[in-house]
Amino acid sequence: VFQLSVPLNFLGSVYRELRQSLLDMETLFNLQKVNVSIAERPNAKALQLSKGGEIRFENVSFGYLPERPILRNLNLTIPAGKKIAIVGPSGCGKSTLLRLLFRFYDVESGRIFIDDQDIKDVTLGSLRKSIGVVPQDTPLFNDTVGHNIKYGNLEASESQVTAAAKRARIHDIISSWPAGYDTKVGERGMMISGGEKQRLAVSRLLLKDPPLLFFDEATSALDTHTEQALMQNINSILKEKSRTSVFVAHRLRTIYDADLIIVLREGSVAEMGTHKELIDRDGLYSELWSAQESLFNEEGEQASSSQAA
Ligand code: ADP
Ligand code: MG
Repeated sequence: VFQLSVPLNFLGSVYRELRQSLLDMETLFNLQKVNVSIAERPNAKALQLSKGGEIRFENVSFGYLPERPILRNLNLTIPAGKKIAIVGPSGCGKSTLLRLLFRFYDVESGRIFIDDQDIKDVTLGSLRKSIGVVPQDTPLFNDTVGHNIKYGNLEASESQVTAAAKRARIHDIISSWPAGYDTKVGERGMMISGGEKQRLAVSRLLLKDPPLLFFDEATSALDTHTEQALMQNINSILKEKSRTSVFVAHRLRTIYDADLIIVLREGSVAEMGTHKELIDRDGLYSELWSAQESLFNEEGEQASSSQAA
């Protein structure tokens, strides 16, 4: 199974944090499957977010294997300072798109721009510092829960760490553990649930506070109620700071309020627009929405009838 990924600048953080054990470095490299062939141009410049983080894919094609294209001539623009959602069937290339933006891989053809700069022309450090991801599978380090959040920003104070955890709706849970923020997690630590892991990853990202934020199915393991509460917090932070954010989501209820919804199918854009526009269009999105809504209502009925019983 392909597993990705924490932002590579966590690696830089780890280098700086010399106290960190070698074993964690290895775990991190293994978790990340770092592609070492990605190189910086000799006179690469630092990325300048002169427009506030507009992302543009121009005729982008990419595949992991030459015989199996994943993205095909993809064209799309993600406006700066907005909340964008990317939806589409599993395997259509949503996570791949985020990996390309981070330059875990380079495009086969076409170009990706952030604020009119080709991401191949900017330094990797500046690119990865500008972007924060809550990945689909969040790697945890064999360390305390507090440290795991702090990877987002090693200079953060204790109160900044708890503030991030509060906004990510995980603070109360951590506080209920006997060792609190000193609880060891990771492979050799306490077992925590998928939903708790996801909220730790969100805490990490909020603490990093990058200009561009990507959430790759970041709340998929949460129950609907917790997911809604967390999304409300995230939305208010994004609005307050007018950050560019991209949400890859399976559950459309978490993203229907996005400024722009992009529907991918077979590696290119099938439809895009607001929720209302896409519903009116009566295409793929509308179909997915109806299917999920009827499922959601059924589950609701089941829940209320079992409560009554
Ligand atoms: P999504 O996030 O939309 O579900 P992905 O972008 O993760 O889809 O994957 C798109 C396709 O690429 C899938 O068919 C997946 O199996 C394949 N894929 C993903 N990562 C790799 C990899 N490292 N090597 C080969 N194929 C991969
Ligand atoms: Mg994915």
